[in-house]
Amino acid sequence: MMQIDSKAERVFTPLKRYAWLFVFVVAVGGLWIPKLGLFMIPLMVALMIMGFAKGKYWCGNVCPHGSFFDGILLHISRNKKIPAFLRSKILAGLLFVWFMFMLVNRLVTVFYTLGEAGFLDRLGFVFVLNYLAVTVLGTVLALGSNPRAWCTICPMGTFQLLLYRLGSWLGVNRKSDMRLAAANKEDCVSCRRCSRVCPMQLKPYPDYLENKSFDFGACIRCSTCVRHCPTGVLKLRQGKVTKGHPQPWEEEAVYSTTEEVIK
Ligand code: SF4
Ligand code: SF4
Repeated sequence: MMQIDSKAERVFTPLKRYAWLFVFVVAVGGLWIPKLGLFMIPLMVALMIMGFAKGKYWCGNVCPHGSFFDGILLHISRNKKIPAFLRSKILAGLLFVWFMFMLVNRLVTVFYTLGEAGFLDRLGFVFVLNYLAVTVLGTVLALGSNPRAWCTICPMGTFQLLLYRLGSWLGVNRKSDMRLAAANKEDCVSCRRCSRVCPMQLKPYPDYLENKSFDFGACIRCSTCVRHCPTGVLKLRQGKVTKGHPQPWEEEAVYSTTEEVIK
């Protein structure tokens, strides 16, 4: 059975290194200063734009919870295999519907008090409670299972995926998206290091390189597999604009005309 090296070095941008501070500011500080929850509004707008343009890039490079999981909880997590039931698309879909229903329901209730004293506090507190709930659930799963276990069912991840599918269907995000690609497939030595280090427990080898069954939607574009590949086979590349959502086995043809390569 393949061993998982969850403690492998993750790739941190300066933003991802310190973004976890935002979790404490909103989820904890917001309990005393509810208006701090209002920071969630521009954050969610940015998440939606990035999801549309770049899939789950947000989760791997910007998300404050992702930063918290990779930068803090990784060191005290049990780092187990993510349970199979958490990968259920039905579960993720149901959680997304429930989460959005609760959020919209609370927002509508608060908006009935528009113009009254304390409106902004009540509005901010809706986001604080949501953020706190995600922090608690994510922390429980991170400590008991794997740092990124929550990310497999996170409603905001599902939301980004839906937006990404829309962008792909419209054929407008091929230029902005950065996807896993292989430079020289024949250089792969089948060591499976990429699969052992992937925070989402995806399998660049063999699922991408051999089986043509890689789940691009679940990939958070974090570059960890790219960093750890000993032969430099893997890249994250931007693709040219093509209408529709290319199948994995079409990737090399799609990327063969691309000049920008990011390692
Ligand atoms: S396949 Fe690579 S880029 Fe995608 S989530 Fe896994 S480690 Fe990150
Ligand atoms: S880490 Fe690189 S060489 Fe090893 S299996 Fe993955 S792609 Fe192939």
